[in-house]
Amino acid sequence: MARRAPRIEPREDIYPVDEWRLVETRFDEERLAAAEALFTTANGYLGMRGTCDEGIPVEHSGTYVNGFHETWPIVYGEEAYGFAKQGQTIVDLPDAKVIRLYVDDEPFHLPTATLEGFERALDMRAGTLDRTLIWAHSSGQRVAITSRRLVSLEHRHLAAIAYDVTLLANDAPVVIVSEVADSQRTSPLAGDPRSRQLGCEVLACHVSRAVDLRVVLGYSARSSGMTLACAIDHDVQTDCPHTGEAQADGPRGRVVFSIDGQVGVPIRLVKYVTYHSSRRPQVGELCQRAERVLDRAVRHGFQDLLDSQRRFLDDFWHRSDIVQSGERRWQQAIRFNLFHMCQATARAEGVGVPAKGLTGPGYEGHYFWDTEIYVLPFLTYTKPRIAQNLLRLRHANLDLARQRAREVNQKGALFPWRTINGTEASAYYAAGTAQYHINADIVYALRKYVDATGDGEFLRSVGAELLIETARLWADLGFFDRRDGRFRINGVTGPDEYNTVVNNNLYTNLMAREGLWYAAETIGALRDADPSRFAVVVRETGLDPAELDEWRRAADRMFLPYDDRSGVHLQDDAFTDKEEWDFDNTPADRYPLLLHYHPLVIYRHRVVKQADVVLAMFLLGHQFSLTQKQRNFVYYDRLTTRDSSLSCSIESIVAAEVGEMEKAFTYSIDAGFMDLADVAGNVHDGCHIASMGGFWMTLIYGFAGMRDNGGRITFAPRVPPEFGGLRFPLEIRGQRLEVDLTPTSATYVLRGARPLTIGHEGEIVELRPDAPVTRDVSPPSGASTLGRERDPASAG
Ligand code: BGC
Repeated sequence: MARRAPRIEPREDIYPVDEWRLVETRFDEERLAAAEALFTTANGYLGMRGTCDEGIPVEHSGTYVNGFHETWPIVYGEEAYGFAKQGQTIVDLPDAKVIRLYVDDEPFHLPTATLEGFERALDMRAGTLDRTLIWAHSSGQRVAITSRRLVSLEHRHLAAIAYDVTLLANDAPVVIVSEVADSQRTSPLAGDPRSRQLGCEVLACHVSRAVDLRVVLGYSARSSGMTLACAIDHDVQTDCPHTGEAQADGPRGRVVFSIDGQVGVPIRLVKYVTYHSSRRPQVGELCQRAERVLDRAVRHGFQDLLDSQRRFLDDFWHRSDIVQSGERRWQQAIRFNLFHMCQATARAEGVGVPAKGLTGPGYEGHYFWDTEIYVLPFLTYTKPRIAQNLLRLRHANLDLARQRAREVNQKGALFPWRTINGTEASAYYAAGTAQYHINADIVYALRKYVDATGDGEFLRSVGAELLIETARLWADLGFFDRRDGRFRINGVTGPDEYNTVVNNNLYTNLMAREGLWYAAETIGALRDADPSRFAVVVRETGLDPAELDEWRRAADRMFLPYDDRSGVHLQDDAFTDKEEWDFDNTPADRYPLLLHYHPLVIYRHRVVKQADVVLAMFLLGHQFSLTQKQRNFVYYDRLTTRDSSLSCSIESIVAAEVGEMEKAFTYSIDAGFMDLADVAGNVHDGCHIASMGGFWMTLIYGFAGMRDNGGRITFAPRVPPEFGGLRFPLEIRGQRLEVDLTPTSATYVLRGARPLTIGHEGEIVELRPDAPVTRDVSPPSGASTLGRERDPASAG
């Protein structure tokens, strides 16, 4: 039996359950790095790890601007043609979060200070990170310190911190130093190939000025040439006499406040922070922008930011909240995951979603297929505009993908496996560039977006080119085998990175087939319905209408590996030739295998890192019969290590469908607690955004049993008794569908102006605006009816 990661609940004595907040009741130095990730505040553009206000102790100070990266030449010991040339790493920026406090010239140092009461909370309704404590000094002085940090969801360049100090025992001098400090880093995680550190000298400083209580700094990254402005300004509110002086010192800056502290008289410092970045060399202009943002922020004040943050989140929760009626900790986990998805995506405009959001340095700030397959479903059904932006980014990088296809000797376009700037950043082609399925994942997400929103205009104006160039790649990559006329795709890696450069990966072939059909159908329809737009597309892509037939033929003849003896779909042609991994003699501390075994050892065994066939059975579920799904699920469940956090959510969804409810629940909770309980043991490097999206999918596709094939929304609910019920909204074609499930009933309410047809357990249900419809839910039997059932084996 393949290992399943142990789940370590967060300690409730330190992290008491709260449905709307993540709370820490003790400063816990052992979990410093993990807490920095979990308590991140971010908006998808700007992210700040949950470091303590005073700047130390710190593991990764972690202030990031999404997309702001440094490049470096990838040096291979043995170079080969077409290898990726340029590494890209998100930069840990000068840290403007730091506020140091001295009372009676004693520094406040969190780990050594005697504290009376301590609470830190990430408030998921207010969108703030709040800390309250009382510092008891051996001199008898007691100081109440509270802080409130936010990264504005409404103003994407802006963050602010309100830092309050009140002397409780005696009058004393108080000094507050508000800094832009060098970003502090510890060394990368020893032995973990997934972490990388840039050298210290990434940024060159071009602007460094201090005026009044303001510091403005401008930089450029030495190699990528990207430019950055960082500026801070302040507002001091106190009746205590005080002075303030700003200093700029090369790449650093600070404002020092000296206050004659009086007992019982509050001192409030509000710090406004702004970051601006550009791909072009325009530091001066960026600094001006930064100053304008600060002018506005100071004029409107902190309360204004709090109010707009609350409004933004009220709207977010209205669109996205999922309520269950079981234990409060499940509810907290749901909100925590949703909140971080909001923080990773809300203002991701013109940039992608890094695998760790902006919560840590893991995976270097790169965008992967995680976005299309794990994050976009959530966005498509709760905030489709953001989903559209992310698809637009792929389109914006289409020329680079065309170039990359040429580099790897193919036609069409090949999207990079991992990237920030649109070029391939994976230096390990076997588990990188060979994952051609990224092309199909993008098209799959595009189709779901179009089906759910009805945005045909986007499909025609932006989608068409994506469809054509990715279909071309498939047509060119595969070949018609003379032996049986089947279309085969060799030498690729599927989602499972423990079986690389294989022939006929089932997932890839199925997803490519889908992309080819969709491209042929969509472009054919465009030719018939909109000849002028079609002419533009032909001009832009050099399309030969005969290509459409070629795509159809390749799709119709796609080879899908199947093992007659065992009656299961094979992950790839040679999957069963391999020796099975000796799970019984693999100790728990040898997982994840990738950190303990040479890749060749892993590759020659039958062992699976993450859902691959099982993922295909979810995404293209209507192409498998239920019996086939059951058989495949049992077969692959046993072989899967879940060494990737992207696995358990997908397995949960399919487990629910095939009636394995216990597994469905366990895997879903593993996804839900991936970060909160540090299931994978690496949350210090950042939260797992794909797993968070996957968790949403376990609730909607798994337990609510939603399917959305061809734009038709159907439900086959199977709510686990642990959850009691599930209530959530979805946005479908611009209208709101409210779903309220119990283990025995389902109520659907449509909020909008037009009727909507959905399916419930095989029945067609017509919904009219504001008229609730309730249906019984059949007891889980292991046999659900989801969509059309057809075995790909018969089609392929
Ligand atoms: C997984 C990939 C994923 C990447 C980033 C890897 O461990 O195998 O599927 O895209 O992490 O999340």
